[in-house]
Amino acid sequence: MSSHFREIFRRISALAFQLRNFRKERFECPICGYKGPFKDICPPTGLRKHAQCPSCLALERHRFQYLVLQSVLAGLNVSQMKMLHIAPEECLRSFFSRQFGKYETADLYMEGVDHKVDIQNLPFTDSTYDFVFASHVLEHIPDDRKAIQEIRRILKPNGIAILPVPVVAERTIEYPQPNPYEADHVRAPGFDYFDRYAPWFSKVKKYTSNCLPAKYQLFLYEDRSMWPTTEIPLRPAMQGEKHIDIIPVCYAQSASKQ
Ligand SMILES: [Zn+2]
Repeated sequence: MSSHFREIFRRISALAFQLRNFRKERFECPICGYKGPFKDICPPTGLRKHAQCPSCLALERHRFQYLVLQSVLAGLNVSQMKMLHIAPEECLRSFFSRQFGKYETADLYMEGVDHKVDIQNLPFTDSTYDFVFASHVLEHIPDDRKAIQEIRRILKPNGIAILPVPVVAERTIEYPQPNPYEADHVRAPGFDYFDRYAPWFSKVKKYTSNCLPAKYQLFLYEDRSMWPTTEIPLRPAMQGEKHIDIIPVCYAQSASKQ
């Protein structure tokens, strides 16, 4: 299907979803402008309410990242910057490629990327990129400290890296082997996880879901008291059904205005 027909198909599906769910709570997608109910999704980790925009298919984290990016990139000369997008998400690709002067993609397995690389051993020289974005990547990487070090190495001295992971525990739990029911995660990151960035960056600024308008729905509505389950035996139970997400913005060199 061509991208034009895919777009029309998505719009019709979003409209049909809206009509079928007219009683459901309404939100707004900052990426595509859709206004209406969001879709509940059910991955092996459990039901997540109000998760997905039915029009552009962006999840909670994508909408949150898009809004934080607007703030982080404001005032920067982005058209002169070189960016590396690791494990590139479809819904953010066109945004990044429009914004940045040079835009490159990388992944170990994904087809259609510019660089097929292992994040633990990047083939780029020091200080190559102004901006690196790798979302929900490090929880898949056995030697994540080496990967963080590598990302810092390829950043220019005033570069920025945005490295979110899913926060699904109070304290980070390392797994003995990848869990196929969590897309091969090798750990359950906790609120302490971002401390691992501190040795490599002069400043790590953390944005949380509750710092932006509720109409965009940036929380994770899931019942984590059901954890652990057979599929996710190492995720601990967490209280509440509405959880915050965190986006860490890592500055290689702290500027006084940041
Ligand atoms: Zn959308």
